[in-house]
Amino acid sequence: MEAFEHRYEPQERKQVMIQCEDLSHKDEIVQYILLKPKTDARSRLLCRKCIEGKFNQQTNEICLISEVLDDPYKVLKYTNYQGNVIQILSDFIHSYDFSFDADAIRYKIDEIRQRFLYHLSELESKLIEKNEVFLGTKDFMDKLKARFNQYFDISKLEESLTQAGMKYGNITTKDKQKLRKDVNDYVAQIQKLNQDSADQEIYKTLFNAIDDSKKKLAEKESQLKLQKEKLDKGVEKILKELQNMEQTYSTLNLRQSELSTTYMDEFLARKNPVFQQRNNFMDKIKRIYQSKYDGLDANKVHEKIIQLGQWNNQTLLFLFQTSSQQVFGVYVSQNSSEIFHQNKRQEFPIKAGVSPITLNYSNNQNEVLMTFGNGDIIIKPQFNGCISELGEGFSASPEYRIGDLKSYLANQHCFDIVEMEIFQILK
Ligand SMILES: [Zn+2]
Repeated sequence: MEAFEHRYEPQERKQVMIQCEDLSHKDEIVQYILLKPKTDARSRLLCRKCIEGKFNQQTNEICLISEVLDDPYKVLKYTNYQGNVIQILSDFIHSYDFSFDADAIRYKIDEIRQRFLYHLSELESKLIEKNEVFLGTKDFMDKLKARFNQYFDISKLEESLTQAGMKYGNITTKDKQKLRKDVNDYVAQIQKLNQDSADQEIYKTLFNAIDDSKKKLAEKESQLKLQKEKLDKGVEKILKELQNMEQTYSTLNLRQSELSTTYMDEFLARKNPVFQQRNNFMDKIKRIYQSKYDGLDANKVHEKIIQLGQWNNQTLLFLFQTSSQQVFGVYVSQNSSEIFHQNKRQEFPIKAGVSPITLNYSNNQNEVLMTFGNGDIIIKPQFNGCISELGEGFSASPEYRIGDLKSYLANQHCFDIVEMEIFQILK
């Protein structure tokens, strides 16, 4: 693996060697400038110990000297000064990352390619190795079969069938009698080991031989049986993820979302004309919950929604990703709620008189966290075993030709949520 470990190297940073003026920080070199507008000028140059110590409340009022010397526009990268036009420019600049350029992309993709190839050949050799052990069990099976040879013997049957077949059209009564007898003998041979009629000693011995082999192979067999379907399914998952990665460029409006693709830009532009203008609307879309940072936690989800105050008057956007790699969600607004399916690029508008969202959790109903529509999507507090009955409160257009409404969103009847995001859309 070492071969793939090296990274895209950033430019080397300039270092200045100035000792910290704090007498107790001997041998420390200053690394930061305190940017707080009104303060004792003498203490603006800080070292690592200053930051860890008496300035630890001011980490959002400093800049890194080496970063500023490298790029002066980074001076307000960590700060959040209100009404400072330099800060506004800085935030704008830092919402774009130009460092991930063509070379960096090629480098990254090459790294992914190497890792893929590495794991594919690992997979190949592991499967072949296991298969060799599995083939070893074939000998064992062959030996067992040999003990039953006489019962499976078809030599007389074959000869008899062939002879009768050659006399096609001219078969005599005597021939027919012989054929009938030989077939009867063959069936008797197969039925010979029937528990009720067999020689009990032979029966027992052979029965035990099978039972014994079953036990011996059972353990190995279950581990070794090659599941070709599993390989196909695995590849399908990887390909789906790769298709998602093709849309990895963040969307115009939902930059803070890690689940959304450019479909969400198109969707939002349809829902709200203000998003049709190509502009910076980051401040109109506020992330209120993201499982990646907040954890998949029912209490947290509930709390974040309740914190909005009059939450059922808000426009909210829910995005769910299931373990079956589907991303769908709900746009909740007072007059135009919709369920959407990002992968399938389809929308399901709410029916008249249906309330788009119910927070069941607040009613101490612990079996359900929230319900969209009339059970169109039901989220459980554990995020496992969630269910959907599309078409109940949100209408499923016939043009989508949906077969099973219950499994349409997640491609499963019962689904697990692996990631979830909630955004508030401000007016
Ligand atoms: Zn210091």
